[in-house]
Amino acid sequence: MSKFEFAEMPNKEGFFGEFGGQEIPPELKAIMDEINDAYEEIRQKPEFQQELDSLFADYVGRPSPIYHAKRLSEKLGGAQIYLKREDLNHTGAHKINHCLGEALLAKYMGKTKVIAETGAGQHGVALATACALVGIPCEIHMGQVDIEKEHPNVTKMKILGCKLIPVTRGTATLKDAVDSAFEEYLKDPVNFIYAIGSVVGPHPFPKMVRDFQSIIGTEAREQFQAKKNKLPDYITACVGGGSNAMGLFTAFLNDESVNIVGVEPAGEGLDTERHSATLSLGKPGMIHGMKCYVLETEDGEPMPVHSIASGLDYPGVGPQHSYLKELGRVQYETASDKECLDAFMTLSQVEGIIPALESSHAVAWAMRKAPELSKDQTILVNLSGRGDKDADYVADKLGL
Ligand SMILES: *Cc1c(COP(=O)(O)O)cnc(C)c1O
Repeated sequence: MSKFEFAEMPNKEGFFGEFGGQEIPPELKAIMDEINDAYEEIRQKPEFQQELDSLFADYVGRPSPIYHAKRLSEKLGGAQIYLKREDLNHTGAHKINHCLGEALLAKYMGKTKVIAETGAGQHGVALATACALVGIPCEIHMGQVDIEKEHPNVTKMKILGCKLIPVTRGTATLKDAVDSAFEEYLKDPVNFIYAIGSVVGPHPFPKMVRDFQSIIGTEAREQFQAKKNKLPDYITACVGGGSNAMGLFTAFLNDESVNIVGVEPAGEGLDTERHSATLSLGKPGMIHGMKCYVLETEDGEPMPVHSIASGLDYPGVGPQHSYLKELGRVQYETASDKECLDAFMTLSQVEGIIPALESSHAVAWAMRKAPELSKDQTILVNLSGRGDKDADYVADKLGL
């Protein structure tokens, strides 16, 4: 694969190899093409780029540092572990990077409302934040079951001024929230925009969300080189839909010396039905308007997936990850719920950093790998978010 080809992904139709595209009705395809054209035009405008850059700096607090986790590295007795601190962003995770991009795009396109679904509420809070800042109405659809489970995020969304729509149909969880939000969007797709929460969905969303997140890797590559005068031997990130991982990986795809590892949730075990390891155990299929790896039941329905980290339980995965797996450019590994909890507690107690349960999957893989490597080798881990939201759950689970 030449440098040129990586830089040009996806092609005009939104394909990464055979993955991606627009598996949607023709009316919707026309609307997605319009969003793509507007995005390609707006991203070239200096005022758009300047506004996004200054919000990244003064509002999000970018660049986020990279931090040498010396005590953790010493304890493991192998490779040196570095953390890209996306947990230090305003709102506590990487999601604000693409939500700001999407909200600004909505403003530049003259849209009157931003619509999205949310599961655990992380995407909802980041999007409500971005919409409050940009000054555009925001409507979030959330299953009633999730509303009852995720109280702090529900309260935050209300305080941030977004309109929260409880969804009671079906199982009243994420899938029903997607259907409900999509129906609302289809009422007026000319004036509304649907803000997807990861590098998934029909073209151009996998590309746009990746572009907005790629600031992570662009910064990290420069920062690492400035500190160490070389590139890391390994970089790693957790993969749900895959946005924080694509954010880190993109800047390193052409660096042949850099090993790239995505970490999926093995949940209660790859030999059970309680996992969400889409790239490890799924197969190519269709979901949410794209072709990608999918976990399916025998009758072709999306599998009811599980992870201790609610941000990682998705039965599909970004089309670019699906392609990078087939190319062999990225290795996809897994970490179980148990390893994740262990990494969560270890990073907290050895470095004083409480990671999100999602991010803890990447930390868990680094903890497994580091002892196999020598002390002058390095692993850069994307710490996609902070763990405040998970603290009570973990304390309960471990009986603290
Ligand atoms: C939502 C979330 C994820 C998973 O989403 P990706 O699109 O796979 O990055 C990971 N980490 C944190 C902290 C999240 O909130």
